[in-house]
Amino acid sequence: MGKIIILDENTSNKIAAGEVIEKPASVIKELVENSIDAGAGSISIEIKNGGISFIKVTDNGSGIDEDDVEIAFERHATSKIRNSNDLETISTLGFRGEALASIAAVATVELTSRVQNKNYGMYIKIQGGIVKEVRQTGCPVGTTFIIRDLFYNTPARFKFLKKDATEAGYISDIISRVALGNPQISFRLISNNATAIHTPGNNDLLSTIFSLYGKEIASNVYEIKYNDNKFKISGYAGKPEISRANRNHQSLYVNGRYIRSKLITSAIDEAYKTFLLKNKYPFIVTNMEVNPMLVDVNVHPTKMEIRFSDEQEVFRSVYHAVHNALLSKTDVRNVTLNQEKQDFKLHESMYQKHNCVQQDIVQRNSYVQDMTPETYTCKKPNTEPLPKISAVQVNIPEDKISDQPEVSGVIQEAETEKAEKQFSNLKIVGQAFSTYIFLQDSDNVLIIDQHAAHERITYETLRKKYLNNEALSQYLLSPVVFDMTNQELNLLEGSKDFFDKLGFIYESFGNNSIILRSVPFSADNSTVKEVFLDVVDYVTSMEKADITESYDDILYNVACKAAIKANKWLGDMEIRNILSELDCLENPYTCPHGRPTVVKVTRLELEKMFKRIL
Ligand code: ADP
Ligand code: MG
Repeated sequence: MGKIIILDENTSNKIAAGEVIEKPASVIKELVENSIDAGAGSISIEIKNGGISFIKVTDNGSGIDEDDVEIAFERHATSKIRNSNDLETISTLGFRGEALASIAAVATVELTSRVQNKNYGMYIKIQGGIVKEVRQTGCPVGTTFIIRDLFYNTPARFKFLKKDATEAGYISDIISRVALGNPQISFRLISNNATAIHTPGNNDLLSTIFSLYGKEIASNVYEIKYNDNKFKISGYAGKPEISRANRNHQSLYVNGRYIRSKLITSAIDEAYKTFLLKNKYPFIVTNMEVNPMLVDVNVHPTKMEIRFSDEQEVFRSVYHAVHNALLSKTDVRNVTLNQEKQDFKLHESMYQKHNCVQQDIVQRNSYVQDMTPETYTCKKPNTEPLPKISAVQVNIPEDKISDQPEVSGVIQEAETEKAEKQFSNLKIVGQAFSTYIFLQDSDNVLIIDQHAAHERITYETLRKKYLNNEALSQYLLSPVVFDMTNQELNLLEGSKDFFDKLGFIYESFGNNSIILRSVPFSADNSTVKEVFLDVVDYVTSMEKADITESYDDILYNVACKAAIKANKWLGDMEIRNILSELDCLENPYTCPHGRPTVVKVTRLELEKMFKRIL
């Protein structure tokens, strides 16, 4: 006799519940999405014990008709699609018809609902998938679900529930996400009788962000507004100052559906690349409107993952949407002297070994300390307090200083759309510690880190030339000979054209050596050696299949080395050159590693410091 049986409906619903309903927050996600699909303008969610013992979701949506209240709990029962063709053009959040069946299989569910054209509503109670009671009842138009004792009959699932507070945290998170995707709906979360979330529902995303994250975040975001033929992208992108060490503050939506997408996340990262330090992630809320035909939402039971028909295009559009938002609005960072907290976590990239970065950070820290002796809070990566350092701590020998490259006027020739002379019109106050350029406008003192600024200038100049196929090479007066390993020789032979384009021109010099004749910047031979070997090390250890993809990283490296160092005295002309070059940049506010190039201290801040005002 055969051993195979068809499972009864109750058992198969319990199995299906395992996929969709993992924790109280998943119940809430499903119920709230149903309320949204029902056109609700306000949705209220009440929970007790992190939703484990009690969940109540009330909406003022269309309600469920008398004839539908029982069938709504059947598996594959939905009012949202009629057949598989409709899967191509889904515009509702739900469509699989399994949420209510799954929830009812693993809890006690009470539903009260009324539609507009009836003067009475319906009440139904279901426990563990079995209908216990159905009757007419008086109630307002809309729907209320009460879910009690989740997972009472699935002990394995119950065991995996976390502490009440943790489950409540997941719920609050999912409601925030759904609320950010639906600013036209007012959401209220009441946890153990206290209001935890209340969004205005006035169709203004910024006020929704304000109600969920507070003033600090809401006043530090740039609007994203983008529209090409296929995608309309909107939302808010956080300033670098409010970035965090994880991605929790990133909420992505496609047609209002909250989703996770590596593709979109990496496009955002790319757009922020030179605005942020490594391991920092921006605050972002962004919705992409796209023809439903071009996305597949039926990839996973929780519908959190989706597939796009053209990933390249999605990447490009998101990148431009976010990048444009950043470029159009980025501004000089305001520093509050007694609050400046910077966690300069150096990343493990090739740049870490460049002492220019390290040295710069020590410089900056000591500078902050000097400005605010009593209130110094700047953290070094190792969190030990910095010793007090006097004004000029590093003395570079005279001959080293004269070796530094000259500031060239190259970018001055570059055409620029920015008509305003943001920096060069300001009054030059002077240079401090041979490292910082002080400027002044009517209300602020601006402080430019000369190395970071010149690094940005150099990087953008090199990058522009590279992308325009212009020659980067600057011939060395005395070419440099390098001994190479076999692997390195192979790589250099095989990528000659690429290096040529980057300005590194070399040829074989016999006996496993090469002779380097040109580099993309002017520098002394020891810098040339260091940069070239770094670049070779970098490309040999690289995982990218196509080394030409690494041009940007190589240009960062070169820019860092070729830029004016800290502790170099600059003449008036040199300072003016830097300022007018900064005026021409797309993003003059951060160095290519994401550190700020310029900060400002307001007059008000100074007045507070000297207790002229309180
Ligand atoms: P789906 O959302 O995938 O259609 P569900 O199991 O979540 O499946 O819900 C089944 C049906 O119950 C829905 O298609 C809808 O018609 C009805 N429904 C559920 N919740 C609500 C609600 N809050 N307001 C109106 N109708 C609802
Ligand atoms: Mg649903």
